[in-house]
Amino acid sequence: MGQGEFSGRVALVTGGSRGIGRAICQRLAKAGAWVAINHSASAEAAEATLEQIRAEGGDGGVYQADVSSFEATSAMFDAIESDRGPVDLLVANAGIASFKDDANMPVDLWRRILSVNLDGTFHCVWRAKESMLARDYGRVVCISSINGISPSRIRPDRLIAYGTSKSAVIGFSRNCAMAFGPAIRINCVAPGLIDTDMTRDMSDEMRDRIVAATPVARVGKPEDVAELTYFLLSDAASFITGQTYVTSGGIVTLP
Ligand code: NAD
Repeated sequence: MGQGEFSGRVALVTGGSRGIGRAICQRLAKAGAWVAINHSASAEAAEATLEQIRAEGGDGGVYQADVSSFEATSAMFDAIESDRGPVDLLVANAGIASFKDDANMPVDLWRRILSVNLDGTFHCVWRAKESMLARDYGRVVCISSINGISPSRIRPDRLIAYGTSKSAVIGFSRNCAMAFGPAIRINCVAPGLIDTDMTRDMSDEMRDRIVAATPVARVGKPEDVAELTYFLLSDAASFITGQTYVTSGGIVTLP
């Protein structure tokens, strides 16, 4: 390992301790990147991600920061830069959802979801772009959601705050692509239902309804998202920026 398209590159994956983020960390390490694994409060899980990467012949480091704080995010970038150098590949993956944020959602819950999912993405891109522009190289993928493209017709909880935050991430990425090209390419990935801790508590009945409405008739795996993210960061996607790609088994299709 260490060989591959991203050999010599530094990647940062926020929320890399588990789920989709962990699979992305592994995929980027497999392509040769040195991977900074961010977590907010799960050091053990982040260390387990790093161990897995090392067992597969890759390398990286673990960095704690709550991305909803710009100061904490900026300090994390300082630490990565001093340990390994500036971030070349950024995956803004950290996110939270509440499956209760319907019409009775408390104002504080709205603010927390927007501050992690949207502000957190903004903080990382804002901090990363300084060195990316200076070095004329930067690639970014922001993890949105199909809920950021169209509200679910199946789920009774409409995910108002979550869906809004994920729509805003798409709008933010489009604007950044226009503002920061050609040095920086930035795209979004919008996953459908993926089997992770975030969705573990979903009822079997709801899961079955979603699968029944999905053309490929299954729930997604973290690796489905990791593979698409890797592609968008790679040279094979050098003509693609400002776009959103859906990996949902076909339950949502873009116009
Ligand atoms: P998960 O809950 O398993 O993992 C989320 C990760 O984000 C964890 O590592 C957590 O520690 C980290 N995190 C949470 N708040 C943070 C903060 N303030 N600062 C830093 N890190 C923080 O979830 P997942 O399913 O792996 O989701 C990853 C991303 O994919 C999220 O943005 C989520 O919204 C998105 N997504 C998930 C699904 C799905 O069905 N699982 C579908 C569409 C989009």
